[in-house]
Amino acid sequence: MLKTLVIGPCAVENPQQLREISEAMKELVLPSFCGPIIFRAGIWKPRTSPNTFQGVGNAGLTWLKEIPFPVATEVATAEHIYACVKTHIDYCWLGTRTTINPIVVQELADTWQKISPLDRPKGIFIKNPMAQDVDLWIGAIDRLSPLNVPLYAVHRGVNHHPCWKMAFECHRQRPNIPLLLDPSHLSGDASQVGLLCQQALDLDFDGWMIEVHCHPDKALSDSKQQITPQQLQNILNGLVLPTPITEGQKVLKELRKQMDEVDDELWDIIQQRIELSQKIGVVKKKYHIPILQVERLQDILQHRLIWARERHIDTSFVEQLIILLHEVSIKSQI
Ligand code: PEP
Ligand code: MN
Repeated sequence: MLKTLVIGPCAVENPQQLREISEAMKELVLPSFCGPIIFRAGIWKPRTSPNTFQGVGNAGLTWLKEIPFPVATEVATAEHIYACVKTHIDYCWLGTRTTINPIVVQELADTWQKISPLDRPKGIFIKNPMAQDVDLWIGAIDRLSPLNVPLYAVHRGVNHHPCWKMAFECHRQRPNIPLLLDPSHLSGDASQVGLLCQQALDLDFDGWMIEVHCHPDKALSDSKQQITPQQLQNILNGLVLPTPITEGQKVLKELRKQMDEVDDELWDIIQQRIELSQKIGVVKKKYHIPILQVERLQDILQHRLIWARERHIDTSFVEQLIILLHEVSIKSQI
């Protein structure tokens, strides 16, 4: 399945900013394993302090719709949902500060439920809650599941730390919900984004949500974690898709493990045989018994070939092996 790629600025700032980013995005060359771009940008920003940029609000909806990509924005209230439906915003996401509150999530689910299925989003991205509580995350997924809208779980960490265990547990319990990584909010650090994107690939995540801005240093929010379209292109160029382990390879690995164990025993026994023949050599020398005793070799061969025939084992292979072992014995006794 193609990886989901959701990219765009933390926040809509003005129409010119959106145009510049989307023009640059049109030039991106995506790896063959990536699906088409979904453009993300927040217009109602859940900022910690009221003294910071809070998002452009409803005005941003019409600017977003001019973007030549399907668009996604964050919703946290019923009013946000109605505004998105009115403007035909394609996708929505629930932020970490929303998924932590089951009452708010339920209210959003109930609001979408009242909206005709045709007007519901094409998909909803659900960030992990801002606490390491997988049940809250799964609870949010379950509250939105009755909408019959494609849902995506987005691992964005807690306090700039990854919570891989929580992400895998969410995926284990809801395996049909694709799991994406948001390396931007997870690290809060643009220099970590590439590394985390590759880690997500190695861990078989189903895609990424990445913050991209043409001038990260001038961004009105999350400026430290946003990367430029060129940086994103470099990251995409460097991604290496791990070779998937097929069922056949898994079985082969197990059988080879067993084979190695049998070989270990086989070589131990061959070593024991060599040591025994050295002891026999000492006795032969002491009692002046000839080293080569053809009748003995004939006996061994005759007995072992009957044994091989009864077991349908290739007799010429058994014969060659006995001659080889015999040669080694004779050499060790000379
Ligand atoms: C965002 O994606 O811009 C955002 C606010 O996300 P989070 O809820 O993960 O902080
Ligand atoms: Mn952000």
